Amino acid sequence: MIEEPKAEYRTGIGTDIHRIVEGRKLMLGGVYVPYPAGLAGHSDGDVGLHAVVDALLGASGMGDIGTLFPDTDPRWKDADSKELLFIVKEQLE
Ligand SMILES: [Zn+2]
Repeated sequence: MIEEPKAEYRTGIGTDIHRIVEGRKLMLGGVYVPYPAGLAGHSDGDVGLHAVVDALLGASGMGDIGTLFPDTDPRWKDADSKELLFIVKEQLE
């Protein structure tokens, strides 16, 4: 009987783009950046954390950020992306 090799580790790649708009706080990598404009989005629009979330989801085969946190769900309106990352981390454990 041939045994399937077990993966020791997985990799994922995440990218993200949001428009810059006035009237929003600029959050990058979970850090507030004092700037006169911010990133549009259903959540806080933090492209850095969204890319990390997408990379983790991709590596684990769990879909992408839009699948797990759809912009049609009011729970994620203006959500802190650190919370989204925490939820994904919990699901990976
Ligand atoms: Zn995003």
